[in-house]
Amino acid sequence: MDMKRIGVLEGDYIGPEIMKEALRVLRAAGEHTQLAFDIVPLEAGGQAYDKYGCHLPASTLRLAETCDALLKGPFGGPPEALASPKWSGVEQEAILPLRQHFGLYTNLRETKVFDSLLDLSPVKGHVVKGVDLLIVRELISGIYFGEKQARVVEGERVYSDVEAYAESEIRRIAIRAFEYAKSRRNKVTLVAKSNVLKSSVLWREVVAETAASYSEVDLDYMHVDNAAMQLIINPRQFDVILTSNLFGDILSDEASVLSGSIGLFPSASLGDGPFGLYEPIHGSAPGIAGRQIANPISAILCAALMLRYTFGEEALAVRIEHAVRRTLELGYRTRDLFREGADDPAKLLGTAQMGEAI
Ligand code: ATP
Ligand code: MG
Repeated sequence: MDMKRIGVLEGDYIGPEIMKEALRVLRAAGEHTQLAFDIVPLEAGGQAYDKYGCHLPASTLRLAETCDALLKGPFGGPPEALASPKWSGVEQEAILPLRQHFGLYTNLRETKVFDSLLDLSPVKGHVVKGVDLLIVRELISGIYFGEKQARVVEGERVYSDVEAYAESEIRRIAIRAFEYAKSRRNKVTLVAKSNVLKSSVLWREVVAETAASYSEVDLDYMHVDNAAMQLIINPRQFDVILTSNLFGDILSDEASVLSGSIGLFPSASLGDGPFGLYEPIHGSAPGIAGRQIANPISAILCAALMLRYTFGEEALAVRIEHAVRRTLELGYRTRDLFREGADDPAKLLGTAQMGEAI
């Protein structure tokens, strides 16, 4: 038996409910291989704040360092409580430092439109049918990490955030994007704003240099405003989208809408080695927590990505993805996927039931 250590950060609100299902599927998948999983619970987020007065205790980081991969639920609180110290700092004090601590500069988000859920998309079925795109977002530099200032200039407040990229930061993520494109449909679209931003000009130059080593991959360029529009009117033109931290954050939320529910998608954050952090793209959904109605598919697909990118278990990852697709084809739905009058009420499942079905 090959024992793998998986650090699990359950997350807040719906986090524990959906992570439980991810672990259920992971255990089931493990029965088909020589892999065994040692689950290491890690405390962070709002949960940790209550106990330790901070969002990412040093003990959590030390324990995380002993793990092969991290499976993370969503952190965060309800909008009306965002000003409280328990919730205001989650992003800045737990999520960004976690990514930075492990040097996870590559963030991957896939958007696939399932044929069985075509009617759920707010975009017309013939436009979204077959969409399968991968956003490769730079995760630990750019404006989220640049110098921040709050000054008073001539009597008024002036706040600033700096967008800065070094060549090496762009090159390493560009290489990842071209490598992924090779195993997909050989197309990379760089998204930036080079008509206005100096940093975007550097992205164009460095990505063009990188492209020279990948003659089989087509490189395309799009300004971010146009890309935002193209994602809605012609999303099938995209294979791999390569972009910066800020633009990637925005475009990947937009892309997930094409599928009809934010509860369907996982993300992977990777550095240079196999270590990875896997988390759903959505937040902690306080409004639906504790009622067993959250969709666990995002968390379950995180387990698939972990098998693929950290453990190299491609066949097993595909099996989980197939199980998800098949369960949807059979008509099973969580509440976010259910259409009154069109779907079978007998196939409306709770969170744990969906995990079991998959
Ligand atoms: P964050 O700032 O942490 O990203 P958010 O404000 O973007 O959070 P989410 O928590 O992602 O918000 O929730 C957005 C909407 O999607 C809510 O209506 C929520 O109930 C719904 N939602 C999110 N995740 C799921 C899920 N797994 N299953 C069902 N509905 C979900
Ligand atoms: Mg969000």
